[in-house]
Amino acid sequence: MPKPILEVQELHKHFHTAADQVVKSVDGISLTIQPGETLGLVGESGSGKSTLGKTVVGLLEPTSGKVVFHGQNIATARGSQKRELNRNMQMIFQDPHASLNPRFRVGDIIAEGIDAYRLARGQARRDRVAELLERVGLHPDHAARYPHEFSGGQRQRIGIARALAVKPQFIVADEPISALDVSIQAQIVNLLKDLQQEEGLSYLFIAHDLAMVKHISDRIGVMYLGKMMELADRDSLFMEPLHPYTKALLSAVPASNPSAKRLRERIVLHGDPPSPLSPPVGCPFHARCPAATEICVRYIPEGKEVRPNHWVACHLF
Ligand code: SF4
Repeated sequence: MPKPILEVQELHKHFHTAADQVVKSVDGISLTIQPGETLGLVGESGSGKSTLGKTVVGLLEPTSGKVVFHGQNIATARGSQKRELNRNMQMIFQDPHASLNPRFRVGDIIAEGIDAYRLARGQARRDRVAELLERVGLHPDHAARYPHEFSGGQRQRIGIARALAVKPQFIVADEPISALDVSIQAQIVNLLKDLQQEEGLSYLFIAHDLAMVKHISDRIGVMYLGKMMELADRDSLFMEPLHPYTKALLSAVPASNPSAKRLRERIVLHGDPPSPLSPPVGCPFHARCPAATEICVRYIPEGKEVRPNHWVACHLF
């Protein structure tokens, strides 16, 4: 197996509230991403997946733990190494409207990174912007327009072009299709897949449900209250989910064929996830878990590799 492009080791990101309470948004996450691989990350709102994504690309500083990119700890990189890491790790945001400066022309938005890293000037810069617009399915003339002149799907294409402009190796896509119409979502996913093949990109693709990550991910991680509940390759996770939370999420995914529909029984989770301000003792999922027993209320389950490359954090295994 090739060396991972990204290694996340026991990462914690805690926030302190005004009342001096601690919110453990990311609570001991470890994962790896191989070159050219897409790791999908799912979980309900408040599971910590976006905080994890931002900490991985260096937009947030970890409380403890490490993010290692190509063997380099991003926390200790300085000077030109740090610039190179920042260029190589880009982010696509959920809301394409909010993430594009409305006062800038699209060409200048896309060229932000080109200018910051001094990758091209003058005609070469204009040519690169035109090439990027075409790569994401827009027209070179669009460079002269403003973000409000575009639809949501087109704005997300602009966000993707901006991320690609600096030729990154790794992109965190933070809910990149959640704000788009269903009819547009598949187009953006297909665009990201095509770009991955052409550029050899690796992705951490964050979404709030499994249906969204199914078509793009090689492996999928399921987060709950800042912890990784299950991590496996896509087919294992869909065919043989182990964690009760994964099973519940999967039961809400529309089955593609009638026999699967008959086999799949909807598991309705009652209540909301507990507040991250007062997480439960023991397994974080125990209050909603149909399989919870005495031990679940007392002890936090450790992540275990119960099958090759299939990890689960549950006392049942
Ligand atoms: Fe359910 Fe217990 Fe497993 Fe947690 S550890 S998911 S409560 S069975």
